[in-house]
Amino acid sequence: MSEEAALTPVKALKSVFSQEMIAVRVRELAAEIDALYGQEPLVAVCVLKGGFIFFSDLVRALHNEKMELDFVRLSSYGKKASSSKHVIFSKDVEIDIAGKHVLIVEDIVDSGYSMQFLLGQFAARRPRSVRLAALVDKGERREVDVKVDFAGFKLKEGFIVGYGLDYAEHYRMLPGVYEVTL
Ligand code: 5GP
Ligand code: MG
Ligand code: MG
Repeated sequence: MSEEAALTPVKALKSVFSQEMIAVRVRELAAEIDALYGQEPLVAVCVLKGGFIFFSDLVRALHNEKMELDFVRLSSYGKKASSSKHVIFSKDVEIDIAGKHVLIVEDIVDSGYSMQFLLGQFAARRPRSVRLAALVDKGERREVDVKVDFAGFKLKEGFIVGYGLDYAEHYRMLPGVYEVTL
């Protein structure tokens, strides 16, 4: 058995946000986002991999006919996989964001280092605005000042999986969000 296989699956998963709760919240966020941007040029940017299901549901709930979609993937270095100060692009957007509104769609904002990097990179390209939507805002764990403009849910503690979020690449396909209990 490989080392990774020995790590997974985990012992137990406890439901935190059901598929139904998420669907309701995504529609509410989409209404707020539509109210803000209307039909102004908007680039929605999915942060891979964790944001992919939230992004798919959110963009399909929006009504902006001028919206363009693009994707980034970030890599972080350091011992703690989920909270490193050293972040780089492993994939950048391909669309020119200058003069357009940008909505970053992320799975979780935790320490804030990942989004501090991305917001800084995008700001340098002279967009009309940059805002951040996150499925989950772990606001109390923030180490740098990053504000989530559209937060699906707030969470104080716990490691969660499902709805795009992984544990060692497993569980991304679960329709709801679960806390991993080791
Ligand atoms: P940061 O600490 O830079 O704000 O967050 C980095 C990333 O760590 C998040 O975007 C997310 O991908 C990952 N992360 C943080 N908390 C969790 C969690 O509870 N579960 C999972 N699967 N990933 C997390
Ligand atoms: Mg992420
Ligand atoms: Mg991950």
